[in-house]
Amino acid sequence: MHHKVVIIGSGPAGLTAALYAARANLEPLVIRGLQPGGLIATTSEVENYPGFVDGIGGFELAEAMEKQAARFGAQFLDSLVTKVEVAQRPFTIHTDSGQTVTADAIIVSTGASPRKLGVPGEEELANRGVSYCATCDGFFFRGKKVVVVGGGNSALDEGLFLTRYVDELVIVHRRDTLRADPILQERAFSNPKVRFIWNSVVVSINGKDKVESVTLRNLQTGEVSELPTDGVFPYIGHVPNTDLFRGILELDEGGYIVTDGRTRTNIPGIFAAGDVTDHIYRQAVTAAGDGCRAAMEATWYLAEQEHARSKATVSVA
Ligand code: NAP
Repeated sequence: MHHKVVIIGSGPAGLTAALYAARANLEPLVIRGLQPGGLIATTSEVENYPGFVDGIGGFELAEAMEKQAARFGAQFLDSLVTKVEVAQRPFTIHTDSGQTVTADAIIVSTGASPRKLGVPGEEELANRGVSYCATCDGFFFRGKKVVVVGGGNSALDEGLFLTRYVDELVIVHRRDTLRADPILQERAFSNPKVRFIWNSVVVSINGKDKVESVTLRNLQTGEVSELPTDGVFPYIGHVPNTDLFRGILELDEGGYIVTDGRTRTNIPGIFAAGDVTDHIYRQAVTAAGDGCRAAMEATWYLAEQEHARSKATVSVA
């Protein structure tokens, strides 16, 4: 299977790139990846995507973006990319479903994944009380007590979503001031279900078949304590999904893909957009903007290649 443009990842960056590439008649293929719709699809309510006065569910937003791209001819493949070969043109992309796709241009929009705490019990109790998706799993914690770890927008946003279900929410943060936007801080401070434990980190998650407690360490006093809880939701940032491109594309020290400011990577014909390149803004709207730029750059790149090929043909003739 050959496509002029293959987009790897289907969050706001990938889906916007698909929309623009499709409207440029490039019939792009989007390989959806592990999380169709990207992280935004796991977000309960998106209040800061322009155009939605009353906000919109993250899943609904991603679904609408996909339908819009499909309307103009974008195609979709439900697979994970396992390997990308760039030594020869066209590029070759291998997937876990055994399909091989070739592409004249690639847009990498593989996003970033939630960072793990890396403490004992986290892996063992994953999906048994440890969750990274409040929207997906909040319902299972109705009437229970849960711990959210982190002090950024995700911790507060998703924590506030959990208060729809839980009786008590404890936010454990390693400092005594929050990084989250003031509006979210105000909402959390005024919510009677929310309690904060400051200057503390989770050192283990405990339980036999399901989460029963977390062990905390106060970073100022060194005091270690146990807090009974039914669930743990770590929201401590993200790591870029760039393992596929190690040794292929230039990455920065955080593992993010380096671009030239115009979404172009160090390999001509490979572009990168969204959270996989961005550890600063990380917004759906900035990712979407990036996706647009990557698709426009890919369109211009392909036109130049075509022009060079036709010139070469004319001069040979
Ligand atoms: P973030 O802003 O990087 O915040 C991560 C939080 O986790 C910080 O409070 C950090 O503490 C803490 N942390 C990091 N490593 C830790 C560790 N090993 N142990 C304990 N705590 C740790 O990440 P985010 O909240 O996921 O947000 C990512 C981006 O998405 C941001 O740009 C954010 O604005 C955006 N976002 C926006 C919204 C919204 O607009 N409503 C919603 C969600 C996300 P320190 O504060 O001490 O560094």
